[in-house]
Amino acid sequence: MKIIREKRELTDIVDKWKNQGGTIGFVPTMGAIHEGHLSLVRKSVQENSRTVVSIFINPAQFNEKSDYDAYPRTEEADLGKLSEIEPDVIFIPESKDMYGDRIEMLDFDMRGLDKTMEGKYRPGHFAGVVTIVYHLFSIARPDKAYFGKKDYQQLAIIRLLAQKRFPSTQIVPCPIIREASGLAMSSRNSLLTTLDREKAAVISRVLFQMADNWQKKTLKILLDEAKQHFESADIPLEYLEVAEQDTLKSLENYSNAPAVICVAARIGKIRLIDNVELPC
Ligand code: AMP
Repeated sequence: MKIIREKRELTDIVDKWKNQGGTIGFVPTMGAIHEGHLSLVRKSVQENSRTVVSIFINPAQFNEKSDYDAYPRTEEADLGKLSEIEPDVIFIPESKDMYGDRIEMLDFDMRGLDKTMEGKYRPGHFAGVVTIVYHLFSIARPDKAYFGKKDYQQLAIIRLLAQKRFPSTQIVPCPIIREASGLAMSSRNSLLTTLDREKAAVISRVLFQMADNWQKKTLKILLDEAKQHFESADIPLEYLEVAEQDTLKSLENYSNAPAVICVAARIGKIRLIDNVELPC
């Protein structure tokens, strides 16, 4: 497992690998590595001749500076966890190397996928995400890139980015890894107190309850009851939405298209997201 901190060096290694043949798998992360990340890395190592994992806390995608400042930075522990799976390269660039002196956002039409849910509450977030993924894909030139369904809207946007700009890169969606309580693993969980962690488990519990009652009650009743649960648990919601899986269009009634329930909630100062997919 080689640690690379400069994009020039990664470019050279990727050139060499491309000449040798075989496939390159890529797992972009912002570090504070947990089992969710590791599941992606394991899959990439299994499915490719080479795997690159990047660790880069991307300033361009944080719409709140306090969130960027508070984001956990745990490089040593991250490298320890990754070394057990042994991807070929861990790429840990500096912002200046990725962006130069000024971050220039990628001009990319997200076809409205960036306008709903996260987009409403985190203006500019997805522009920052597509910008960094564009740069990283351009350097790592992956055959397959692994993304978690935990960030459902991000996954939809990255699929579109790949389709339009990186047609030879396959986007591999990976299931959400959860703690025993059901709480979706997230780097931000480490910022929760023990009590808040218990409270946060309500988020997935309500989602699973909605999934159990899917099509047994009207969608309006399902949503109203869920919102009531969050209110009783004293968990403020940013949004709770049922959307079409492919288009992320909000649904008010059951439809023939497979759906996903997405939620963003605040536990104290920490913002958490989760989702659950449903059949038609
Ligand atoms: P992040 O470091 O939060 O940017 O996440 C890096 C990648 O790991 C993204 O593709 C995430 O969707 C994915 N990821 C984060 N948490 C989980 C999880 N609990 N289960 C599966 N994938 C995850």
